[in-house]
Amino acid sequence: MMHEDKINQIGKNIRTNLELVNQRIVEAAEKAGRDPDEVKLIAVTKMMPVDVINAAIEVGIRRFGENYAEQAAEKIDFVGKGVDIEWHMIGHIQSRKAETVSRYFDMVHSLDRMKIARFLDRYAKEQNRVMPVLIEVNVSGEASKYGWDASDESSWPKLADQFRQICAYQNIEVRGLMTMPPMFNDPQDSRPIYRKLQRLQHFLKKKVSESDWDELSIGTSFDYPVAVEEGATMVRIGTDIFGSRPVV
Ligand SMILES: *Cc1c(COP(=O)(O)O)cnc(C)c1O
Repeated sequence: MMHEDKINQIGKNIRTNLELVNQRIVEAAEKAGRDPDEVKLIAVTKMMPVDVINAAIEVGIRRFGENYAEQAAEKIDFVGKGVDIEWHMIGHIQSRKAETVSRYFDMVHSLDRMKIARFLDRYAKEQNRVMPVLIEVNVSGEASKYGWDASDESSWPKLADQFRQICAYQNIEVRGLMTMPPMFNDPQDSRPIYRKLQRLQHFLKKKVSESDWDELSIGTSFDYPVAVEEGATMVRIGTDIFGSRPVV
């Protein structure tokens, strides 16, 4: 049971939103014949203050996603690294922030280039740990997106060679793939992108046996029901849980 007295108004709003999100995840999973428990919710708290994160913890959220290493580190210092709380790095990582990322985060979804693999491996080694990572790919080929360009399927064997090199690092552990679709008006437009990602996943499962490639981090507030139908094991949801972000 939750301690009702400790849950403030922010927490109550979060709880109401969370119930709806969880319900939509369950419906989407059932529609696709999947077990809803296969889908982990990452609550995205970028730009959100520590009060909001603490309220989310009070209502039972345990996995948080952040985009900016420095801001996240400050918040994590405030909130404390509770034993059962996970911090997921989902934003582009500048190489000079790689050490902070490896110190503060439990998982990286946004491994988007070789240099960051090398850096994360080095720092994780110094810290005597293994960092679980997802490789970020750009399936649509849209120029503004980060990650390995996976838009042209004929390039996949070359991608597989590069990903094998990443798997060879001792202090990072490749768990799967992450992608961000382009900005669409209709969430259904994300579906072909996610289907292509699943095809890439199957290709990698066959060609790069060093990882099981089981995790797919796809889906935001905009399109997570579609992502769940198309195999998401992690959805990254901010706005639908916390409301719109403060504008800076
Ligand atoms: C901000 C962000 C999200 C969450 O977006 P919402 O629309 O607020 O749900 C998910 N993934 C990434 C990479 C993000 O930067």
